[in-house]
Amino acid sequence: MFHKFRIPLRRAIYLDSDAGVAFCSYSYFPRWGFSKDLSSPNRHSLIVKCRVAENLNLAEDPHRRLNPLTNEWVVVSPHRAKRPWQGDVAPLPASVEPEYDPNCYLCPGNVRAGGIHNPHYASTFVFDNDFAGLKTDIASDRFDLDRKRLLVAETERGICRVMCFSPRHNRTLATMCVDEIELVVRAWMQQFRELGEIDFVQYVQIFENRGAMMGASNPHPHCQIWATQSIPQEPSKELASQTTYFNTHNRCLLCDYLELERGQSVRVLCESARFIALVPFWAVWPFEVLICSRPHIGSVNEFTDDDSRQFSAMLKQVTSTYDKVFNAPFPYTMGFHQSPTDGAEHPEWHFHAHFYPPLLRSATIRKFMVGFEMLGTPQRDITPESAAERLRALVQGCS
Ligand SMILES: [Zn+2]
Ligand SMILES: [Zn+2]
Ligand SMILES: [Zn+2]
Repeated sequence: MFHKFRIPLRRAIYLDSDAGVAFCSYSYFPRWGFSKDLSSPNRHSLIVKCRVAENLNLAEDPHRRLNPLTNEWVVVSPHRAKRPWQGDVAPLPASVEPEYDPNCYLCPGNVRAGGIHNPHYASTFVFDNDFAGLKTDIASDRFDLDRKRLLVAETERGICRVMCFSPRHNRTLATMCVDEIELVVRAWMQQFRELGEIDFVQYVQIFENRGAMMGASNPHPHCQIWATQSIPQEPSKELASQTTYFNTHNRCLLCDYLELERGQSVRVLCESARFIALVPFWAVWPFEVLICSRPHIGSVNEFTDDDSRQFSAMLKQVTSTYDKVFNAPFPYTMGFHQSPTDGAEHPEWHFHAHFYPPLLRSATIRKFMVGFEMLGTPQRDITPESAAERLRALVQGCS
């Protein structure tokens, strides 16, 4: 069915001419329209022929959404979020971690595995993981029994490092000041460059696991850096999607996506001149957040001084907002997806950071990926738009 309607100039309309899709933001929840015949906009109005998905209300009806980065789907069940609130939002007692813990293997001056003493570091501190998951000194080989690709294995070389964000045991990105976080960002830049330049390293994955719920064994603020011989699975999927999009449209997938999100605003938490934080349209985790650079850059290698400053501020913004959701330290896995360091040009790749927090309804109730999610498709109840609204109300001083 085709409809004709007027869209006042101040209401934006976003077009994807190849797919013939019009994305109209004249209502709070977007409607999808299809059009092959887009009138050119004049000063006052734009008339578009649209086939509105009248039978799909993204705020009410069960549906599934596509993640264009991975080509995977998520089922959204907004009608279930209308079930009575269970009322279990009791916060955890505030953390009473000391500034220095004599038993912490990451605190300055303390002894690590094998009797190694940490230096008395003053800001960040990087070392090779004493229990590294990968090693560098192994010969390359591949196993493929009968060449049927049924029993396949191959060598994976890699370097695993640990980076402490601060000498203070009880700090987090949320409680460190922007100046301190900037030192961390600069250390990431240096590590990314240094590891990416190593011949066999095709990808550098920087990630932070925070909180016991995410399996973090030590509360001392730190992250891990894995530099690998192959491009890991998640960035591989994103590389394929970004490459296909770039080759098809001669534009960047995330640049185009950000344009839509900025026009819609419903999923945006905050933005500065160089970065934007939002709950992605296809978010799986209840309070999942994506931070993207607003300009098209591929990695921290391309950060200007201004970028590292603004990225530090954005990290503090997002993590401190998280801590306010349930008035408790918010666990998450966070990491950056940056262009591969495989020696090729990557004009398709757009720098971004994913935050995957597991919490659902309180500081102690987490979402589990089980049942249908494990065997079928991930599913969520609260819509990404509602989650964004809730987070946005807690964001302070974004600029
Ligand atoms: Zn410590
Ligand atoms: Zn881009
Ligand atoms: Zn990604």
